[in-house]
Amino acid sequence: MPPQAATTYQAAQAKTILADLGSKVSGLLGVSPKRVPTATLARSFADLRDSVEEAEMILVAGLQRFGPTDVRLTALCRALCEQMAAGVFPNFVVSALSDGYQTLSDPAIIQVPAAEDCSLLGIPDLAHELGHWLFAKYREDFVDARFTQAVTAHVLSLRKRRSLRGAMPLEDYNRQCGELRVSWLEGWSNELAADMIEAWVFGAPFAYQHVRLCLRREPELYAPNLETPITSHPADHLRLTASTTFLKRAKCLPTEITLMTTYWKRYRTHADAVAGSSAPYYDMTYPSRLVRILADNVRVVCQTLGIVRFDQPTAATPDIRGLARDAWDRLQANPSSYAAWERTRRANLWQKLGVP
Ligand SMILES: [Zn+2]
Repeated sequence: MPPQAATTYQAAQAKTILADLGSKVSGLLGVSPKRVPTATLARSFADLRDSVEEAEMILVAGLQRFGPTDVRLTALCRALCEQMAAGVFPNFVVSALSDGYQTLSDPAIIQVPAAEDCSLLGIPDLAHELGHWLFAKYREDFVDARFTQAVTAHVLSLRKRRSLRGAMPLEDYNRQCGELRVSWLEGWSNELAADMIEAWVFGAPFAYQHVRLCLRREPELYAPNLETPITSHPADHLRLTASTTFLKRAKCLPTEITLMTTYWKRYRTHADAVAGSSAPYYDMTYPSRLVRILADNVRVVCQTLGIVRFDQPTAATPDIRGLARDAWDRLQANPSSYAAWERTRRANLWQKLGVP
């Protein structure tokens, strides 16, 4: 399907989703409070409120301003999906954020920064977002019984450690332990699996793009950890080391892993100088055993699904993975001429994808 026709088709799908939401709202308004318990009504209202908010923020806002940039990025992402054989496709990629990437799985939409079609360097992160959909689809394979038991056992052992319990009120410490468990089983495992999938598909450019993202915010490589607020994403340092652990255990080329660790080390030296390298609770927050189990689960899913690895050649044109790697290699080898080189390659890319 040509990109413009695909856009029209997807817009029609979005209209169906919104109409469905509208009829659910009308249905709820028509329910008699005498017949349905208040608690049930309140729950239905809360669920619908969340769906309407997501639709307003992502679906409607994205479609209202859907333009040439989004047509290009949607075509690019769909080509990548085919080439990595992910088995998942986005309805839309919309350039509607000021920072970072984010994903909604139903309807399948990826949001990226506003001018992301002006750079080839962020392409690897599309694989991370597709990884979130794979995580949602095969969650039990990523977070299996062995991983769940290991997380539970680790948190139990933390609760018994008197040294740290003495450093903060017991109530706070127990709450931190509880949040840690939930994060490992939900948000952090999801993010780490998506990173590993990105590293599987792109290799070293994952590390380069990770540094690019880190440079957009204040350096804080070792938080969250047990003594800080627990937030949705694991620490940036873990995200890099977990992905190299994953590639090592998947027996990928050692030279590729060296490229990643060397690049990260350069950034880490700078970040440590600015923000400090002391994080006494880092290792207790992120035990290597959990990373190893998750890495093995991600490898099995990637192999079972047949997701194309970074070192497997492709005959596809345009070769999206090759283009992202060329871009990063070129930027590092010759930064002063990079902008002109990238402009030409971008124009060539859109032409090959058949988008304006
Ligand atoms: Zn993510």
